[in-house]
This record gives sequence, C-alpha cells and structure tokens, in this order.
Amino acid sequence: MCPLPRLAGTAALLITLTGGLQAASPDVLSGPPPAWQPVQGPQAVAAECQASLGQARSALLRLRQQPPDSQWLRKQDAFVARIEDWGNRLTFLANVHPDKAVRSAAEACELRWNTFFSSLGQDPALYRAARQVQPADETDRNLLTTMLQDFVDAGVSLPPAQRTRARRLNDRIAALGQQFDRNIRDANLRVPFTEAELRGVPEAVWKDAKRDAQGRVLLGVDYPTYGPVMQLAESAPTRQRMWRAKTDEGGAPNLKLLAEITRLRKEYAQLFGAASWAEFVTRRRMAESPARAEAFLAEVKAAVQARELKEIDELRQAKADHLGQPLAQVRLERWDASFYTERVRQARYSVDQEAFRPYFPPQESLQFALRLIEKLMGVRYQRLDAAAWHPEVQTYAVSDAATGAALGTLWVDLYPREGKYNHAAVWPLRSVSTDLQRQPQAALVVNFDRKGLTLDELETLLHELGHAVHNNLSNTRHVQQAGTSVLRDFVEAPSQMLEDWVYDRRVLALMAEVCPSCKPVPDALLDKAVAARSFGQGMFQSRQHLYASYDLALYGPRPQDPLALWAQMEGATPLGYVAGTLFPAGFSHIAGGYSAGYYGYLWSKVVALDMRTAFGTDKLDAAVGRRYRDTVLAQGSQRPPQQLVKEFLGRDFNAKAFFDELAR
Ligand SMILES: [Zn+2]
Repeated sequence: MCPLPRLAGTAALLITLTGGLQAASPDVLSGPPPAWQPVQGPQAVAAECQASLGQARSALLRLRQQPPDSQWLRKQDAFVARIEDWGNRLTFLANVHPDKAVRSAAEACELRWNTFFSSLGQDPALYRAARQVQPADETDRNLLTTMLQDFVDAGVSLPPAQRTRARRLNDRIAALGQQFDRNIRDANLRVPFTEAELRGVPEAVWKDAKRDAQGRVLLGVDYPTYGPVMQLAESAPTRQRMWRAKTDEGGAPNLKLLAEITRLRKEYAQLFGAASWAEFVTRRRMAESPARAEAFLAEVKAAVQARELKEIDELRQAKADHLGQPLAQVRLERWDASFYTERVRQARYSVDQEAFRPYFPPQESLQFALRLIEKLMGVRYQRLDAAAWHPEVQTYAVSDAATGAALGTLWVDLYPREGKYNHAAVWPLRSVSTDLQRQPQAALVVNFDRKGLTLDELETLLHELGHAVHNNLSNTRHVQQAGTSVLRDFVEAPSQMLEDWVYDRRVLALMAEVCPSCKPVPDALLDKAVAARSFGQGMFQSRQHLYASYDLALYGPRPQDPLALWAQMEGATPLGYVAGTLFPAGFSHIAGGYSAGYYGYLWSKVVALDMRTAFGTDKLDAAVGRRYRDTVLAQGSQRPPQQLVKEFLGRDFNAKAFFDELAR
C-alpha cells in the first residue's frame, strides 16, 4: 500500500492493499459484505492478528494439497479472498483509527502479514500447481499469467540464497515504508503565527485553532489549513514558513529511510538480472520500459514548457504590481506560486476558489457526488445506520438501480483529525468475485473543511469516488482480477476521467436534488472557474513531470542520494531548489507502491481524457455511463486495459485529447 502527498491540484491517490477485509472470524466468503467489525483496543488487534495468521497458515496447508485440476484456480482464489478478509481490515486501521495504540498494533500486524506474503509469493508447491493448471478460457489464462509473473517477481525460481535474500529485502522494505508513512502521519506539526501574520487568510480557517503561550495561533499543515494560507496569506514570510513546514513534513529521518529503500529495491531488481528497480517494475506495465516512460515524459515536457515559462512571467508581473517593485528586481519564490496564481485568477477571471465553499457543504457535496454516479452508472447508494472506525464515518450500501441487486459497500471518512491519513485515498478492502458470489467493499478517506468545499476539492472527491466505484462496480469472476487490480499505470484513469465533471453546469445542477435548500452555484461564477481553469496548468503539469522524472531517475540504474538528486533536478526548473528543504522526505508515493510508477498519473491521464471523449457534450449520458461501467469498470483486470478501452471507445485509444488539453 502507499500513502501519497496529494500534490497541489488533483493528484490524489489510490491505495491498493494486498489483502481484503474482515475479522479472523466469521469466515464468510460469499454474499453481502459483513458490517464493520469494531476493535476493542490494541490487545484485541494483536490477538485477532495472531488468530488470523494461524488460520491463513492452515488454509495454505490445505491449498497445497489441492491437485492442479479444473477446480484449483477457484480454490486458490477463495484462499486469496479469505486472506483479504483476515488481513485488510486490521492493516487499514493503521491509517484511520483514532487511537494511536490501535494504529501501532495495526502496523505491527501489517508487518506480520507482509512476512506471510513474502513467503507465500515463493511457495514452491503453489507455483508448481499454477504452472500445471490448464486455463478454461481467456480470463483464467490472464489470471494465471499474472500469477506466474508474481511468483517469479517474488523470487520463487531464484537459487536458494537469493530467494532468501529477496524475502528479507521485501520484509525490510515494507518495514521502512511503514516507518516513512508514520513519520508523516504522526508528525503533528504546528506552525505559530500572530493574527497580523495571517492577514488575508479567512478568519474561519484559524480562529478556532489552539494558541501558544504568547497567544500565537498554532496551525497544522492539513489541507483545509495549508491550502488557504498558501493561496491567501498576504505576508510572504508567513507563506514561506508554512510552505517549508509542509515541504519538510517527513523530516531528515525520512531521507535516510528513502535512501535505504532505494538501495534495497535496486538490490532486489538485480537479483532478477534487471539493471534497475524502474526496469524491474515497468516491464510488467503498459509502459513496458523506463525508456518508453521517459520518452513519453519528454513529450509532455515539450508540450508544457513554453506555457510554464509564460505563466511564471505572468506571476512575476503580478508580484511586481502587488509589491510596487520593478519587474527586473522581482523573483518568484516557491511559496509565491499559489498566492499569485490565485491573484491572477481573481484579477483576470474574478474567480476565487473560496467563493465556492458556501455552495458545497461537505455532506451535501458527498450526496451530490453519489447522485451523479447513480445517474451515470445506474446504481443506488443507501445510507446505513451502522458504526465504523470513527463516529463520523458513513456507511453506504450500493445496489443496481434496475434490478435492486446488492453490489457492495462504501465507507466515507470526510474530515481531518489527529493521526489520520492526511491526504485523499481509497482503500479497496474487499474484492468482488462472481464465482464466490462475493460483494466488494471500499473505504474513501479524505480531509475536507467542514465549512464547505472549493471546486478543486469537489474535483478531488470525484477523483476518489472514481476509485471507489472501480472497486464497488467491478464484476469479475476472480477476486484477484477485481476492480483496481488493473495495471498501476492505468489505475488512475477512471478517476481522472471523472475530474472534469465538476465543471459542467448540468452536472452541478444535481446538487438541487440532494439539497433543495442549497443555493445553486451562480452560472457566472462557474463560467469564470472554467475560464480560469487552464491558467496554471503549465506549472502544474511541469511539476507532475518533475515528480515522475525524479521517481524514474531515483530508481534508475545509477545509485543516487535522494536529496542531492532532488536538489539537482528541482534546481534545473525555472523556480529552482530552495536550499535546505527536504521535499523527498514527504514523497510517500515513491517510498511506497507508486515507486517507479509516478509517471502513471500522466500516462493514465492520456487514457482518461480519451475515454472522456465518449461522453461528448453530455456528461450525464446514462447509456454511455452504463457502457463504461460494463466494459471498463466491471472487467477489472480480466483483460489488458488497452482491450477494455478499445471495446468502450470502439477504437484504439490515442493521446490526442491529452495533448489538445495541454495546448488549450
Ligand atoms: Zn487516484
């Protein structure tokens, strides 16, 4: 799994766990998902973990006895489903449970499961059986192909000494990654400001914050606080302190961890004869090689570079005007970018993201987003009165609108709190299987301002919901091919496709259906937001390009010190590197599951924007939505993404829509 810095804008993240959900008992594989099962405390987590692992080991012994006949695949998949149910809920708690002791117990449990997976991946009896099984059809064949690749990648066919080393490396990397995330999650940073220093920041953002002994306001770096300070604080030193606190979030210890993770991953790849971790990872992806991913990134850069420079010039001019200084003396700093982008947007398009909050109260925004999915994809969400991991978490039953058939469960955790995962992500906790008549479960975790959402944040909500529906509306035969099990450089596409929906007036009008008392967003305000949207895209996409290039270089064949490499690469960008800052220390995507895979955000956006063309001008076209649900979401990884998209579009996908948008 992997947490991620939600990089300004829309880059939110999906988290894929290796297991699923539910407690050690009951062991119910089929039917509707069980309700959330509460935990009583850290000891209970440890005891449940111990019991689940014991059951998993017994189940493994039984699976090893199965002959490799026509039933083997089904039994192996049922075993994976059990593992999901035994492992996922407990490990997920590490990210969301309000009690720190429970989170720690969940982390310890996660490490124990990881050790189990490391050795499961090298199980010679299962590997032998998987090689002998005859697939019944294309779906089974694709599953077997992936499964055999996973065995090979776990080291099953290495000589004994290397096999052991691969397992140890796996365990060690998991432990280091966990520590990396914990350092960010539990940092609990507070930056002190006087009220005067917060001039420009809406009072609602800071007036309830704690104060220090001198009466200064203590602000956290959670999104509802960080965003408004960076966009609206008049004082450059205020923005700089806030920006530095966020940028250095993981701290120096995380740089050491990242360096070790990078080194160990390279060693891991070399056990398999790969020159680098990037090569090892991309050979199984759509991109197929680091060279192809890099060539794509070079095209992106060529498409956005001029625009980035032009935008920076415009921001410099805005800064010169704001401060009354000659342009030649003005330098744009990193902590100026959001502030002057907002100013230019306000001056040129008279749009202010804060102005959207009154129109999008959080709860009603969620209802709106669910209503959109209902209309578009032919489903129903029904809120259940059920307890979950925190009193504010909501539970929804998902069903098919036409038949009433139950489809799955969605949990939603909307607001920030101490010790909670502090970006935006979805955890698929249980996966669908038609063979097992098993229904899926997903948890959507975000950190919204209780006072309402900006349009950007509404976009984030739809993005995450895109991951949740990929889990909930998948309809695959095997658990292992469900929903978000697709290739990592495709997995963002369904979410990125939906981001655009919030800029459509007819879509936003659905708000009236769920909140008759909410005032509709004035047309003029939305028009301005649409017009302002493309301003800043040059800088935003260049930043994405930098993240992706850095990730591939860090995991490339040459050993690199993470901070030195970052300083060099960020230093080569127009705004440069700010001496002493530690950005890679908070870049948890690349410490975790998006390592050598960050390019996937841009790569899958190509697919996302092409898929969007199928809706033409009607973003509420239920027929296209239903076709999309059936041909893409329902299929999970039963077939390669290229094939699914081809079936949906009626042609091969291409990058035209993506590059058209970059040029817009
Ligand atoms: Zn995402």
